[in-house]
This record gives sequence, structure tokens and C-alpha cells, in this order.
Amino acid sequence: MAASAFAGPDAPDLEALRGCVHCGICLPQCPTYRVLGQELDSPRGRLYLMRAAAEGRIGLTDTFGHHLDLCLGCRACESACPSGVAFGSLLEATRAQFRRRRPSTSLLEKAVFALFPEPRRLGALLRPLRLYQRSGLARLVRRSPLLRRFPRLAAMEALLPDVPAPAPMPALVPARGPRRGRVGLLLGCVQRHLYPDVNHDTARLLSLAGWDVAIPSGQGCCGALDLHAGRLDEFRRRARALATSFPADVEFVVTNAAGCGSTIKEYGHWLPDVPEAVALAARTRDVSEVLAAADLPLGVLDVTATYHDACHLAHGQRIRREPRELLARIVGLRLVDLAESDLCCGSAGIYNLLEPEMADRLLARKIDRVAETGARIVVSGNPGCLLQIAKGARGRGLDVEVVHPVTLLARAVDAGREGER
Ligand code: SF4
Ligand code: SF4
Repeated sequence: MAASAFAGPDAPDLEALRGCVHCGICLPQCPTYRVLGQELDSPRGRLYLMRAAAEGRIGLTDTFGHHLDLCLGCRACESACPSGVAFGSLLEATRAQFRRRRPSTSLLEKAVFALFPEPRRLGALLRPLRLYQRSGLARLVRRSPLLRRFPRLAAMEALLPDVPAPAPMPALVPARGPRRGRVGLLLGCVQRHLYPDVNHDTARLLSLAGWDVAIPSGQGCCGALDLHAGRLDEFRRRARALATSFPADVEFVVTNAAGCGSTIKEYGHWLPDVPEAVALAARTRDVSEVLAAADLPLGVLDVTATYHDACHLAHGQRIRREPRELLARIVGLRLVDLAESDLCCGSAGIYNLLEPEMADRLLARKIDRVAETGARIVVSGNPGCLLQIAKGARGRGLDVEVVHPVTLLARAVDAGREGER
């Protein structure tokens, strides 16, 4: 047998790759297969390529890399697969092999990895961008032909919401009412800068649910973007640092970003010899899992909303029921079904920046489905989805607000207070 194209301790497991029995059940669930209809842009086709490389039948060619790059890593195929093929970790291990052999030369990718997983740097970049938006310069630039000459820059500019003022979190938000215990709150990189209100609302709701909320200020990135890109050394470095960031006495570490939660819950797979990382994985919970057990004082919200399943919540963490049940508790809120609610919106970490054409096709499809619902609010539990769907709605001139579930829950709490006055 020819030598495998893969090498080293993180090489994709050949037996796991052979676990695919080629049944094709995953194909209709795969966003790229639905758009392109090509076998090699389906989960089965990609697994075939990975296995062929592992068995030494093909090399790590440009074509190989192209089909891997087009994969969103959304893991819808994992949810569908009756054979339990762990597509996500096989993809990440394969990307690591590819990147080691053929490092990326993309300047955009380098810039993204230098900024996004570094909360301080990202904050420093966003400050002048906030000025740019508030000074009116943004409107002028959008009307000028300047951005048309730089389509990738235009895509990033279109994605950016109104940058909020920095809103630092306290180190501790104490429990209100009967105390349940103590949790830690993960701030996230994008979340803390672009949606700080989601972090504040999360802490407030947890506190109302009886939890002391510890918020370590020095916490860094979970490494999700690095992991999805196959940058395993950088990912492990970040994971090790994060694993020691939270006090030992917190029962759970709560996250409100699906991509972060999904990544941390897999620390045990990637860092089995680091006890702190394994322990952090075991005590990490999405905010919807923790609040599902709480009796929140919710008032009335007279709104029609629809729910988009973030891939790394629905497929990565198998969480679908809890956010919907929480929203259904809000009196007056009409939750209407979104067709294809668990089909990726095209965000997928930084995929929308690196593969804008496919991302835009998926976004257009998502906005079509949203428009069909007639809902005025789209709810989703991941900052990347919020940014992406809001961008699509703006582009379409669709009058919808795109918010995190905790935002609606916090509004319902406020509405309840108003009602008591
Ligand atoms: S991760 Fe998503 S895009 Fe990639 S093969 Fe699976 S379903 Fe398709
Ligand atoms: S559903 Fe699973 S076993 Fe069937 S083709 Fe897809 S990955 Fe392979």
C-alpha cells in the first residue's frame, strides 16, 4: 500500500474515515451539496477524499484543498449520519495536515487570525471603526466607488453592525433571590466587543436564576477559529490558557456563543492529557441549558419571532429544544417555524470572509426563508449568525431585528417589572 499523505499524532484516524458506509443520507443536509450538487462538495465526497489521502491513493493537492475549504464545518452531516461518523474532528485534523504541508498565503487570513482571537487587539481596531461609523464617513464611503474596488473589504464592511461603546463587565454579578451556586461566564471575542449587551443580559438572567456569576477579566479566546482552520498548535495554546482562567469552585462555565461552547466541549478530544481542559469541557454549558431550569420572572412581549438554529448549537452541541422552550415561556411571543432552520446561514466562523460567494448564496437562501415567516424578530444563539443574518436582512431591505435569545428574555423580564409598577 502507498504511504499515507497524512503523518504525525494528529493524523485523521483511518478507521474513523472507514466508518462512512457511503449511504448518502447526509447529502441532502449538506449546504454546499445543496447549492452545488457536486459529490466532492458533499460530506460523503469529502470523506472519500480524506480516506483516499489517508490510504496514499491521492496527495494533498490544490483540488483536495479546495473541496475542504468550501466545507463550512457546520456538522449538519454529523447530525444526519446513522453511522456516527465524527465529520467535524476528521475535517479539523485533515485541515491541520493540509495547512502544515501547504501553509496559507492569504493576507486576509493572516490578518483575521492576528485580530479576531485577540480580544485586546480586536477592541483596539473597533474603536476607530466606531468613530468611522458615527462621524458619517461610513455613509460616504458606502456611496463612493471605493469599496467596489476591494470586494473582500466591502464584504467585511457590510458585515459590521453599529459598533457599540465598550461596556466592561464587573468581576462578579451576585445572585438575586434564593442562591443556587456559582457559575463562570465566558465573554467570547466577538461577543464582548460587538454584542456586549448579550453578555450583560446573560449575567443578569443567571443572577436572577440564583447564580453568582464570576467573570474573570483576563480570559482569552477559546481557540474555535484556530481549531476550525486546522491550526492545532495555536488552538491548544489558547485552550490551555482558557482552561486555567476560571475559579475552581464554579459549577458551570456558561457560554452564549454556540461556536465557543461547541469547541470547549471538545477540549477532551484534543487535549486528553490536560486535566484542566478536560474539566472545563465537562462543566461548560450553553446559557439556554442553564436557564432552562430557572423560573425567570418574564412579562409580556407582543412580538412574532422565528428561531434560526446556529450550527454549533444544533449540530455541534445537539441543543435545539432549550432555546425554543425558553422563548415559548414569554407570554405574548408568537414563535413561528423557520423552514430549513438548521441549514447554515453562511457565517461559519470566518467562512463568510474567506468564501464570500458560497456564504452569500447560503445567506440569500436563509433570508428567503426568514421573509416567508413574516416574523419581525429572528433569534439565534451565536454572534456570527447574528452578524450574518442582520447583514442579509439589511441588504434585502427586510424590516427584521436579529437578536440573541437572552436579549428577548431580558426584555421580557423588564416588561414584567414595568407591569408591576
Ligand atoms: S460540515 Fe457542513 S458543509 Fe461540510 S460536509 Fe458536513 S454538512 Fe457539508
Ligand atoms: S450519512 Fe454517514 S455513513 Fe452515510 S454517507 Fe454520510 S457520512 Fe457516510
